[in-house]
This record gives sequence, C-alpha cells and structure tokens, in this order.
Amino acid sequence: MASLKYTPKQHITEIHSRLSKTFREGRTLPLEYRRKQLLQVARLVQENADDIMASLKADLGRHPFEATLPELGPMVSSALHAVENLDKWNSPEKPQVEAWRSGWDTTIFKAPKGTVLSISPWNFPWVLTILPLIGAIAAGCTCLIKPSEHAQASAALIEKLIPQYLDPDAYAVCLGAVEETTHVLGLKWDHIFYTGSTSVGRIIAEAAAKQLTPVTLELGGQSPVFVDGDSTNIEIAAKRILWGKQQNAGQVCVAPNHVFVQEQYQSALVEAFRKAYDSFWPKGPLDSSSEMACVLNARHYERNKSLLSRTKGKVVIGGQAGQDLRIEPAIVTGVKLDDPLMEEEIFGPILPIIPVANVDAAISHIQSGSTPLVIYVFTENEETKNKFVQRTQSGQLILNETFAQVAVYEIPFGGQGQSGYGSYLGKYSFDTFTHQRGYINVPADARTEGFMQGRYPPYSAPALEF
Ligand code: NAD
Repeated sequence: MASLKYTPKQHITEIHSRLSKTFREGRTLPLEYRRKQLLQVARLVQENADDIMASLKADLGRHPFEATLPELGPMVSSALHAVENLDKWNSPEKPQVEAWRSGWDTTIFKAPKGTVLSISPWNFPWVLTILPLIGAIAAGCTCLIKPSEHAQASAALIEKLIPQYLDPDAYAVCLGAVEETTHVLGLKWDHIFYTGSTSVGRIIAEAAAKQLTPVTLELGGQSPVFVDGDSTNIEIAAKRILWGKQQNAGQVCVAPNHVFVQEQYQSALVEAFRKAYDSFWPKGPLDSSSEMACVLNARHYERNKSLLSRTKGKVVIGGQAGQDLRIEPAIVTGVKLDDPLMEEEIFGPILPIIPVANVDAAISHIQSGSTPLVIYVFTENEETKNKFVQRTQSGQLILNETFAQVAVYEIPFGGQGQSGYGSYLGKYSFDTFTHQRGYINVPADARTEGFMQGRYPPYSAPALEF
C-alpha cells in the first residue's frame, strides 16, 4: 500500500487548539454525550469489522480469529462496559467525615482531566489505540490519538473512520513518526497515555515533565514464566504457554518471554511443548493452513533470525524462517541468563527455557532483573504461590494461564518499574483520565461561624494541645 500521509505540524497545532476549545466549552461533559460517543465506537468496530480485519492482515498477517479475540471483541465490549457503568463511575463520592465537620458538604467530584493525548504502538494497532480513547471519552476528556506509523493499514483506517463516527471537534487522529510525535509532545496536554517500548517511554516522560503533565506509561519488558514441575500439569502448562507465545508471533507486551523450570523437568516440558506444537500445527506452523501471524517487517525478521543463530542454547523445536516474514515458534533449551536471547525483550516467536535448581533460584533470577509487566506461574503448590506473591514484583501475577489479565476489566492493567506506571481497563481507564476533585462547602450560618470564632486574631486562647 501507499505510504502513510503524515499530518503536517501546523495542522496538529490547529487540532490541539480545536480539542482544547471544545473541552473548555464543556461539550464533552454531559453523560448522554459521552454515552453516545462510546456507542459510536462500538458501531465503528461492528460496521467496519471486515475492513479492520483486512488492515490487521495487511500489517501483521493476522488470522481473523486472532484479529477478533484480542482486538475487535475487546473494543466493542470495553465501549459497552463503559456505557453501562458510566453513571456509577462518574458519581460524586461523599466521604465519611469527622462529627465536627458533619454540617459541611464534603464531596469528591469526578472531573475530566481535559484535553489528552494517547500514543500507541504497532503490535495491537487497533485495541491499544481505541481502549485508551474509550477511557478518555468516558471520563469526559477531548482526545488526540497518534497510532503507530509502522502498522500502516491500521493507522490509515483509524484516521479515516474516527471522524466519520465520533465528534471531530472532540476526538481526532494525527499520523506521523518521530518528528510529528516530537511536535505533538511540545504542546500542552492534560494527560499523556503512552503504550510502547521502555526506551521511548523515557522520552515521553521527559517531555511530559517539562509541562508537569501526568503520564501513564504502558511499557514492555521480559515477562517470565515459572513452571513448577513438582506440582503442575505440565501438558496443560505447555499448551497454555505456547498458545500465549505464538499469538501475534510473540509480538505481545504480555507474551511469555522465557520459562524457568526445575532442571529435572526440562525434558518433560519440551515433550509437552512438542505435543502441543503438533496439535496446533499438524502440518507445521509455516504451512499455509496454519495462518500464523508474521513479524512486523524485515528488520524484526532479521533480528529474530539473528537471535536464533547467536543463542548458545539448543533450538529443539521449530525456529525455521519462512516466506512472508513468518518464523516458526522456536523452543530453545539450556539457556543461561547471559545468553543473547536474554539481552532484551524478545518480542518474537522464540521461547528460551532456563533450567533452575528450584523455585527460590527462579525467584532470585526474577528479583535481579528489571520489574516485568507480568509474571506467569504454573503451580498448584500454595507455598510456591505465596512465595511469588510475597517476594516478586510485577505489573500483574497470573497463575496457571497466559493473558488472563487482558480479559478481566475488574483488575488494573499496568506495569511497575521498568514496565511502566499507571494503569487502565474498565473503571481504571475512567480513573486514569479523571481528576478526583475535592469540594467543600462550609455553611456561612451563625452556628458554624460561632464555632469558628476561636480561630480569629487577636488570639486569646493558649496554643492548642494535641
Ligand atoms: P515504539 O516505542 O517504537 O513506538 C510506539 C509509539 O511511539 C509509536 O506511536 C511511535 O510513533 C512513537 N515513537 C517512537 N519513537 C518515538 C520518539 N523518539 N519520540 C516520540 N515518539 C516516538 O514501540 P513499538 O515498537 O511500537 O512497540 C513495542 C513495545 O511496546 C514493546 O516493548 C512492547 O512490550 C511494548 N508494548 C507495551 C504494551 C503495554 O500495554 N504495556 C502494549 C503493547 C506494546
């Protein structure tokens, strides 16, 4: 397809002024308006499902099933979930106050932060652009979205459809790469929501700091898995891990990056991976019937191939590079922590297995690395579960499954440390774009004023005693 037409900087500045004006005029405040826009998001997805799936096919070779489950489905269900819960989320709170202040009206109002910016990556180019937008709409903000320039078909379709379905004075799209994004970051926003790599996350945080703009950073990292051979069903674990790893060819922020397993169970785990592999792809993952997603581009294709050629571990399953930017999921055994595979987030279909002596060794390795977005643990042992809860840090801790966290709107989705800060999904998205505004109305009646008398100068009473 033709390359993307980036938004001229002057036009970006004009969009910013338009969105800011709309916010100041209060147009996005009424809940009825927000509900209508949220329903329009759901309509946009439903009425254009085929085109959206085609854009994901063009950008990432995605099978329609892999387009529907993690992208189209969550966009519609998140928008409807926000519509259903908006009254509740937006209701002012009346905190319990001490008796002497019971006559004051003490309230926490849910105030939209204002005009916000969301910058998204290429790996889930729809859902990671639209879910933050849903939070911004629900909260009553106006919002500019900047999809990734690397998922060109998706970005072009997002730019075409958003103004057709949403109020163009309140929600807009700009396209561009580093130069345009740098310009966007120089404008004054009331919140910046960024999803992408840790290195660019630092640039975003620095730009935001100059204007004291609050930021949410949804970053990546090396999310580890621990398979407790002593207590888990290894076959089920292998199936669930391989399913998580092969989604979108491993280009998922919450993909299992590497697996720790007790040394004596490494070969049983490999056999279980082989069984799962054969059942997923009877003719092999590169056969046209398998419809595995591809890696983004030639650079990522070469990067994955280079990792496979440089590893000091043994590639025991898969790992062949095929046509059309497709690479077979690869299981690599006997990997050590200083292996080239462990230098950075793999973000591809390669799964290293790191044998360890026991659960404590796995925990100590995890503790010595940077804080991951998620830790996956496959165990039925209560002591092992407790050790992970108490002695590790991560955005989320998921037991006996991969990706459960993206389907559950009732827990916050977000990182910690190097994997980012802030969170979203469900009510947490609403909260991210909302300012909890304290409000106190103190009666000016004779009773209250009588109570206040003692505080006015000239002071007659001695200092208060505590
Ligand atoms: P990226 O950081 O290269 O790009 C993301 C966005 O940042 C794009 O819109 C891009 O235009 C913009 N950008 C890139 N360089 C910039 C610069 N110098 N200044 C300003 N803006 C810039 O990330 P990516 O490669 O698109 O995404 C992959 C990374 O994102 C992985 O690390 C992955 O783990 C992470 N990720 C995290 C989540 C999450 O929810 N935590 C979700 C998806 C991806």
